[in-house]
Amino acid sequence: MAIRTVRTIGDPVLLKKCKEVKEMNGRTRELIEDMIETMYEHDGVGLAAPQVGVLKRIVVIDVGEGPIVFINPVILETSGSQCGQEGCLSVPGKAGNVTRPNYVKVKALNEEMEEFELEGEELLARAICHECDHLDGKLYVDMVEGELMDVVLEEEEA
Ligand code: ZN
Repeated sequence: MAIRTVRTIGDPVLLKKCKEVKEMNGRTRELIEDMIETMYEHDGVGLAAPQVGVLKRIVVIDVGEGPIVFINPVILETSGSQCGQEGCLSVPGKAGNVTRPNYVKVKALNEEMEEFELEGEELLARAICHECDHLDGKLYVDMVEGELMDVVLEEEEA
């Protein structure tokens, strides 16, 4: 496993649409392991493959209950709303308020390329929306309500 360089805002890779993963192989397994390690290294709650420069539809999230790997995630259902502070490892030192659904139902493939469905609320719902946006080249900074703020602590980065 290795820690990969996190691409930051201004890097055109962050604005591209990612491609679906068609099959699991050694290279993709290594990418997923590296993404998890990189997320932990930076105390993030989530990381999407384009953030390490790979245009594949892969997301890893850990909201404190262990890492979850989402390959080709599709959001099936959303409901409610929550407004809260959001950050991003690709936008270091910044945070801003973003409104997201409070509940999300997502389907994806796991590392064995088996389909699963997952329901998430609150932080998990926010993280799923934030990371899935990365796969379509979208950054939260374009959804911020009010000002993008400077933060000293980087504990809310996703
Ligand atoms: Zn992000």
